[in-house]
Amino acid sequence: MTSPTEGREIWFLTGSQGLYGEDVLRQVAEQSREVVESLAAAGDIPVRIVWKPVLTDAGAIRRLCLDANASDDCVGLIAWMHTFSPAKMWIAGLDALRKPLLHLHTQANVHLPWSTIDMDFMNLNQAAHGDREFGYIQSRLGVARKTVTGHATDPTTTHRIATWARAATGRTELATLKLARFGDNMRDVAVTEGDKVEAQLRLGVSVNTYGVNDLVTALDATTDADVTRLVEEYQDTYRLTPELRAGAERHDSLRYAARIELALRHFLEEGGFGAFTTNFEDLGALRQLPGLAVQRLMADGYGFGGEGDWKTATLLRTLKTVAHGLPGGTSFMEDYTYHLEPGRELILGAHMLEVCPSIASATPSCEIHPLGIGGREDPVRLVFDAVTGPGVVVGMADLGDRFRLVANEIDLVEPDEPLPNLPVARAVWRPRPDLRTSTEAWLTAGGPHHTVLSTALGTEELDDLAEMLAVELVVIDQDTTIRRFTRELRWNQAYHRLAQGLAR
Ligand code: MN
Repeated sequence: MTSPTEGREIWFLTGSQGLYGEDVLRQVAEQSREVVESLAAAGDIPVRIVWKPVLTDAGAIRRLCLDANASDDCVGLIAWMHTFSPAKMWIAGLDALRKPLLHLHTQANVHLPWSTIDMDFMNLNQAAHGDREFGYIQSRLGVARKTVTGHATDPTTTHRIATWARAATGRTELATLKLARFGDNMRDVAVTEGDKVEAQLRLGVSVNTYGVNDLVTALDATTDADVTRLVEEYQDTYRLTPELRAGAERHDSLRYAARIELALRHFLEEGGFGAFTTNFEDLGALRQLPGLAVQRLMADGYGFGGEGDWKTATLLRTLKTVAHGLPGGTSFMEDYTYHLEPGRELILGAHMLEVCPSIASATPSCEIHPLGIGGREDPVRLVFDAVTGPGVVVGMADLGDRFRLVANEIDLVEPDEPLPNLPVARAVWRPRPDLRTSTEAWLTAGGPHHTVLSTALGTEELDDLAEMLAVELVVIDQDTTIRRFTRELRWNQAYHRLAQGLAR
């Protein structure tokens, strides 16, 4: 897959007005260039920041916002009112803007020059009230944005801008994402259903189903030489169980797994798909449920959902884009079973096969075991324990009138003991604030059993993304209480229904 940050840009806008004269405007331009250089020098903002000439009139502002809308490269805008920029000039531009906006509240100097400060300095460095004028007009127009205060050399400032920029690349990816489903949903399951037309309108993702035998056709077209090459890559990359090695009794199963990977990869590349789903109930002429192939495609950045779950597959591709280049991993996950020892409660997460090795704590072991459901040949899969440390799980539910994201901050821990009889990759975590509160809140919110687990992302990226998409997000964290959380759900219900209005 191509890098989701490749060629992407953020445009940096500086607001002022003609009243100050050329000399001051020249200094404004110089200093705003320095701000852009400082932000870029910090190194954590994943895309290029493009400085735009200082804006001093309504026509130029409107034109720039329209250009931003039309640019496929521009993922969002940062705006700073270095001086006072009378905000009626911004009405037409902001009203037309359809890209994410970050309002940077900063100034050129860190220290007040106490002994030399005069009215010239005051005239030049007045973001303290120039940005208040800008904040007012954004609120007056109802413009969704993130507001960040701080000097451009402050790591907290650049980190918060980077988080927003990451979310903006995720939004951009989501806007044109194509998802291929092999088969429909698992029969009778409710939470994996959803409104695909609404998803395309609200989020951009296009979700379409293909017959699983389209994949089988691609499988038949793979060559023995390609299979041999890929099997060698498996041998070099994983700890291969002896029975799968060349010449051993199950080696043909490994070759068939490689064939599935080649076919799936080809199908996705050919169609320009960034995410996909499978369904163990609908495997056509496939001899194995895709396990290893799905795991490796996830590791390469593809979104995936089991049992036809296109919402989780969409979320996974989006969050992998947001996390691109960060340490840590991001995987498809399912809440499976609990450790309920009082005071030491844990969640064991896994799936039938499909956990992404980007969250593995060590080199995965490549194994073959029977699968109780699906009625096919034993599938090959990667088995491993997940890393330890802080992370987040996120799920998406369709409530009928809107999508709701439910997130839980978690701490991944080592299993109490080895799990020699569990033939799948797994993660063990302690949900914040505790298992009782976390699960009561999750269930009250109607959060799904399929999630995305990430050790690369935190709540701030999710908050920024939800704001850009105008999608509801509820977060279960260290401060959650059931009483407040339940009320938040009720308020959100009212807010989101009102915000939809009567337009449709
Ligand atoms: Mn599942």
